[in-house]
Amino acid sequence: MTRSEEWFERAQKVLPGGVNSPVRAFRAVGGRPRFIVKGLGSHVLDEDGLEYIDYVGSWGPMVLGHSHPDILKAVYDRMVCGLSFGAPTALEVEMAEKMIGMVPHIEMVRMVNSGTEAVMSAVRLARGATGRDKLIKFEGCYHGHSDAMLVGAGSGALTQGEPDSRGVTRGAAQDTLMAQYNDLASVERLLDANPNQVAAVIVEPVAANMGVVPPKDGFLQGLRRLCDKHGSLLIFDEVITGFRLAAGGAQEYFGVRADLVTFGKIIGGGMPVGAYAGSRALMEQVAPCGPVYQAGTLSGNPVAMAAGLAQLTILADHPEVYTVMETGARYIANHLRESAKRHGVALQVNQIGSLLCPYFTEQPVDCFAAAQESNTKLYAKYFNEMLLRGVYLAPSQFEAMFVSSAHTQNDLACTVQAVEESIAALA
Ligand code: PMP
Repeated sequence: MTRSEEWFERAQKVLPGGVNSPVRAFRAVGGRPRFIVKGLGSHVLDEDGLEYIDYVGSWGPMVLGHSHPDILKAVYDRMVCGLSFGAPTALEVEMAEKMIGMVPHIEMVRMVNSGTEAVMSAVRLARGATGRDKLIKFEGCYHGHSDAMLVGAGSGALTQGEPDSRGVTRGAAQDTLMAQYNDLASVERLLDANPNQVAAVIVEPVAANMGVVPPKDGFLQGLRRLCDKHGSLLIFDEVITGFRLAAGGAQEYFGVRADLVTFGKIIGGGMPVGAYAGSRALMEQVAPCGPVYQAGTLSGNPVAMAAGLAQLTILADHPEVYTVMETGARYIANHLRESAKRHGVALQVNQIGSLLCPYFTEQPVDCFAAAQESNTKLYAKYFNEMLLRGVYLAPSQFEAMFVSSAHTQNDLACTVQAVEESIAALA
């Protein structure tokens, strides 16, 4: 038995499924999860001393790779002053100023502790501000595990085949209406059928919890137009895309304004952080200024803020990082396509910015239904072949592959070599 297997045996006795978040259990791909000891740059090391080129990157936040020296230093310097006070600190102000300086159309920020919390709070604010109850979300988009969002959700909820979780009451789910990603008509129908009742349309600007599905030309612009027409707010859930697609996130990348934006892991640089942001008029409806209540003992935690601020500062000061990541992602995507062609394997690769995802199917994947039709068994096989060759991918079809700025030319060369061998093994 490997040490990872030994730990997994122990873990299963004390943690449900041996993990603290479902996808980590490797159930979608078979095999046993690797227990990670440490990460450096683009690599992680497991309990058995095996090293992997990491394309999970803690599911997105490690845009600069693991253990970036500036971020670690910021954390060390801050933690010796105390870990939490539950009182204001200057860092929270600097963090909000930094975010507002980078992201278009936001004037105020409220920090929380996770993406789930950010979305839950933004949705409450949207309902409070509009006086409307209903929400439109897209099937296969994941917005965390708050009750109202566990309806037609993607990510782990999708691979488990249980998009609608037990324990979510009919009451909590009934106001969540389901539209189809990249299908404006499906949104329009719901808005028309529920006049003056829809508080917000919430969307992942790039759907990254059904694999990676970029928005079709005009889709996000169309959502903006429909929201304006119907008096609904547009919420961009930028937990994945924020500060990754561009320094200003999807609003900058696509040139579309959202009313509220949610952020997560990336703004913590690996620490547990989330935030929601919007115009002053909207954000001042939040307590203690306004009637929408939302709070958090550890929100704006100084150590987490130090890590996040250090990461955002590097991103703001080094815009070339985005070109580096995109170039790496495109390189891998092209090699995936070439290997698949060479070996006669049906494969579609979606790539945008530093995000990519291979789907084993003949059909272009531009919507949730198409993503679902891809061959997930073949993905599982591909995943395990890559893992054997030292490349650590998302252990599920319905997640993104994240390229960081720490991935070197050598990493990329090793990765495409592994791709060639793995695809050959599938053929
Ligand atoms: N929104 C999106 C788009 C996400 O991808 C995720 C998680 N990956 C969340 C919300 C939830 O964030 P968290 O896991 O930090 O609660």
